Amino acid sequence: METLSEKMFERSKKVIPGGVNSPARAFSSVKMEPPFIKRGDGTYIFDEEDNRYIDFVGSWGPLILGHCDKDVVDGLHQVIKTGTSFGAPTAIEMKMAELMVDSLPNIDMVRMVNSGTEATMSAVRLAKAYTKRNKIIKFEGNYHGHSEGFLIKAGSGALTHGVPDSLGVPAEIAKHTLTASFNNLESVENIFKANPEEIAAVIVEPVAGNMGVIAMEDDFAKGLRQITDKYGTVLIFDEVMTGFRVGFKGAHELYPDIKPDITCYGKIIGGGLPVGAFGGKQQIMSLLAPIGPVYQAGTLSGNPLAMRAGYETLLKLRNNPQIYDKLDKLALRLEKGIREAAKLSDIDITVNRVGGMISMFFTDKEVKNFEDVSKADNEQFIAYFKEMLNSGVYLPPSQFESLFLNAKMDNEHIDFTIEKARDAFKKLT
Ligand code: PLP
Repeated sequence: METLSEKMFERSKKVIPGGVNSPARAFSSVKMEPPFIKRGDGTYIFDEEDNRYIDFVGSWGPLILGHCDKDVVDGLHQVIKTGTSFGAPTAIEMKMAELMVDSLPNIDMVRMVNSGTEATMSAVRLAKAYTKRNKIIKFEGNYHGHSEGFLIKAGSGALTHGVPDSLGVPAEIAKHTLTASFNNLESVENIFKANPEEIAAVIVEPVAGNMGVIAMEDDFAKGLRQITDKYGTVLIFDEVMTGFRVGFKGAHELYPDIKPDITCYGKIIGGGLPVGAFGGKQQIMSLLAPIGPVYQAGTLSGNPLAMRAGYETLLKLRNNPQIYDKLDKLALRLEKGIREAAKLSDIDITVNRVGGMISMFFTDKEVKNFEDVSKADNEQFIAYFKEMLNSGVYLPPSQFESLFLNAKMDNEHIDFTIEKARDAFKKLT
C-alpha cells in the first residue's frame, strides 16, 4: 500500500520540478523517496504517517533551539497580529542589527537579505566594487549558495548530484571564479601569483560544512589573511552555516586572530524563517546604496517575522552560553559512540566534528579536503542512512552534509542514536 508520503510525492512531482523546492530534499542521493514532514516538536519531527524521528537536520542548520521554541513562537504570534511586512524601516531591524554589531567583533555594519545565497552574492559584488577587480577565489567543495559565480566545484547538493558545474552558468561568468584546494595554501598562492592584480575576494567556509565537516587548519587560516592583505584582496568568511553555530561568535571563537573583511550569515539568524545577512568594515559597507554606488535591495529584506524569530533566537543564545557547552558535550558523546559502534562491526569510518556540527565518512583515511571526501564509500552510506531512518533517526541524506545538534537534545537522544547506529553497522557487514 502506498504511504501518504508516497502519494504526496507523486502529486508534487507533477507540479514542482522533482517534487521539491530544493534538490537535496528529494533523497535521490540515497536512492529513495523522502518522507513528507507534517510537524516538529523540540528534537523530533513527525511525518505524514505520524512516524517520529530524532531530527539531526534541523532544517539544514537554522533550528539550533529545536522545533517550536517557545520564545520564538511567542514572538512570531505577537508580530503576526500587527502586520507581516511594511517595506519600511522597523524597530526590530534596528535591534537585530545592533545585536549583531554588538556581538560580533568584525562587523561595523550589517545588511539583511532573504537567504544565504543573497548574502554571499551581495558580499562578492561589494568586494568587486571595493577593489575594482573581477575575479574571486573559492574552494573546491565549499558551497556558497546557487548564484552563478558560485556553482563551480560547489559542495553539498551540487556535489551529491554530481553536477558541480551547473548548466546555465555562462563561461564568461565562470571564468571569474578560480578554485583552490581547501587547507592547501600553496594552491591559493599559485592563483595569486598568476593573477596578482585581479583577485577581488577570497571566500571561504571557515568550517566547511558542505563536504562534510572540515575545519580550516590554523596555518591555512593565517595564510589566507596574510596573502589577501598582501594582494589587497577582500577576505570573506561565509558563516551562513557556522554563524552562531560553532560558538556564539561563530568562527571568531575558533580563529580569534583572523579578521575577515566581510562575513556572511543566514540560517540561525532567521530562527527558521528565510533570512541572510552580510556585514563588515564600515569603509566597505558604506559603498552600499543608498549611501554608495553598489546596488543591492530586497522587497522583504528585514521583514518583521524573520527579524523577530532571529532576534529571539540570538537573544536566547547570548543569554544562555551554556547551550554551546551542552551541544559540544552531546556531539562529543555522539562522536565517541559512533566510532565505538563502527569498530564493533569492523566498519571503517572517519568522524569529523566541530562543536555541535558533526559528520561521518565511510573511509579509514583522514578527511581534510574535497579530494579526501570524494573517496568515501557512498553505497555503505546509503545502506546506513536507510537503516537509521527506519529506526527513527533522521540524518542528512548525504555524507557531504553536516549533522546539526539542537539545544533541546539530551543524552537520551544521543544514546538512542548510538544504539541504532550499532544495529545499522551490524547489518552492513
Ligand atoms: N553558504 C553556506 C555555507 C551554506 O551552507 C548555504 C546553504 O546551505 C548557503 C551559503 C546558501 O544559503 P541559502 O540556502 O539560504 O541560500
